[in-house]
Amino acid sequence: MNKRIVIVGGGYVGLYTALRLQKTLRRELRDGSVSITIIDPQSYMTYQPFLPEAAAGNLSPRHLVAPLRRVLPKVEILNGHVTKVHHGERTVTFRPAEGEERELAYDVLVMAAGSISRTLPIPGLTDIGIGFKTVGEAIALRNRVLHLLDVAESTEDPEVRRRALTFVVVGAGFAGVEALAELEDMAKDSTRYYRNIEPADLRWVLVEATDRVLPEVGPEMGKWTLEQLRERGIEVKLETRLESCVGGHVVLSDGTEFDADTLVWTAGVKPSTIVNSTDLPLDERGRVKTTAALTVAGVKGAFAAGDIAGVPDVTNPGQYCAPNAQHAVRQAKVLADNIVRHLRGEQLVDYRHKYVGSVAGLGLHQGVANVYGVKLRGFPAWFMHRTYHLSRVPTLNRKVRVVVDWTLALFFKRETISLGEVEHPRDGFRAAVATTRR
Ligand SMILES: Cc1cc2nc3c(=O)[nH]c(=O)nc-3n(C[C@H](O)[C@H](O)[C@H](O)COP(=O)(O)OP(=O)(O)OC[C@H]3O[C@@H](n4cnc5c(N)ncnc54)[C@H](O)[C@@H]3O)c2cc1C
Repeated sequence: MNKRIVIVGGGYVGLYTALRLQKTLRRELRDGSVSITIIDPQSYMTYQPFLPEAAAGNLSPRHLVAPLRRVLPKVEILNGHVTKVHHGERTVTFRPAEGEERELAYDVLVMAAGSISRTLPIPGLTDIGIGFKTVGEAIALRNRVLHLLDVAESTEDPEVRRRALTFVVVGAGFAGVEALAELEDMAKDSTRYYRNIEPADLRWVLVEATDRVLPEVGPEMGKWTLEQLRERGIEVKLETRLESCVGGHVVLSDGTEFDADTLVWTAGVKPSTIVNSTDLPLDERGRVKTTAALTVAGVKGAFAAGDIAGVPDVTNPGQYCAPNAQHAVRQAKVLADNIVRHLRGEQLVDYRHKYVGSVAGLGLHQGVANVYGVKLRGFPAWFMHRTYHLSRVPTLNRKVRVVVDWTLALFFKRETISLGEVEHPRDGFRAAVATTRR
């Protein structure tokens, strides 16, 4: 009888789980005794650590995504959302990009829907805030920053100019710090093409509720990063919260008020909202409650890993694995092998990995790293950041394309034009239609 494995989400966990299953269950996939389906609204997996480099224009956005259908030819890919999981009945409700919702039956479920930005009910945030988790957001942000330089150059109103040149990032984890550092570096670099904008005219503000930045690289390297950012003229406001940003008027908890056209929100993540539409158990932080063997606690035939799952960290009893790619990739391998063991009626094994530290890019030729206790800063850390991520980005095809992008960037200055127009492709045509005489 055919056993159907349904994977909800085609990101890190979804892609790597399916890749391994595609290899291990080659024979079963061929004879039809097993089938694998991935459901994701996108047809690609995003290599999120490269989003800051894409925003800065060092990498083409197409090169940081892995196309699921090409990489997983033995797997069925369905594009749309899973809107409900009824594990009691072994079905998921699938809402395709177009058309009616339908039920899909499964034997084995993998919850791999990742996380979304964790927001707070701050007045104005939904109107002007933007997250930094998707290719769309990274590229929109790049276009926005460059467009605002154009606005500032072309206006005669000093208020409009000041507002356009003020950029706020809330949250100083690696998404926030890397996004800010790369974008600031790109914007500063771009000013050479503007007659009336000097690097010192740009105002970058990093707002962080705790007393440190980049906790992923440890206190010493975090402190060094803070000094670096401040030396670059970035205003880093620690132990400060965003209180409101109605109409772009930013109010911080330390009493500072100013206007800004750009506000990037990277203050943490929470599990994908699908967790609220399942009959699976959740932990106290709203994640799918998961055992060390990556099964969903207390039920049979369901697995979970990555940002959506509360996976106990067996190397650190009482703690959970942090939501990062380092765990997600490794968990996916164990998860896939445990699915095979489950299908064969064998004993499952626990996921065990001690966090080895992190690398972060802080702009061209600048970085910080703390990996296996080896602490690096500046160019060596940046080089390590690039080589590490190059080794991790899925498929040889993408690796080559990334190297080509980087090599070209060595010889040619990066592109600093805003292609924001692609976000409104029909505006010109609509205007033409509107002016056509009957
Ligand atoms: C800017 C940035 C930089 C980062 N840098 C690093 C780094 O340097 N090192 C590191 O270790 N980690 C880093 N991370 C974190 C890392 O990318 C995540 O921890 C990792 O992506 C988690 O993998 P995942 O499979 O759980 O989720 P994801 O990779 O996010 O995949 C989830 C997938 O589920 C899909 N999905 C969501 N809801 C549904 C639904 N209802 N139905 C179907 N599909 C759904 C989504 O479309 C997505 O494709 C970074 C993250 C960001 C945002």
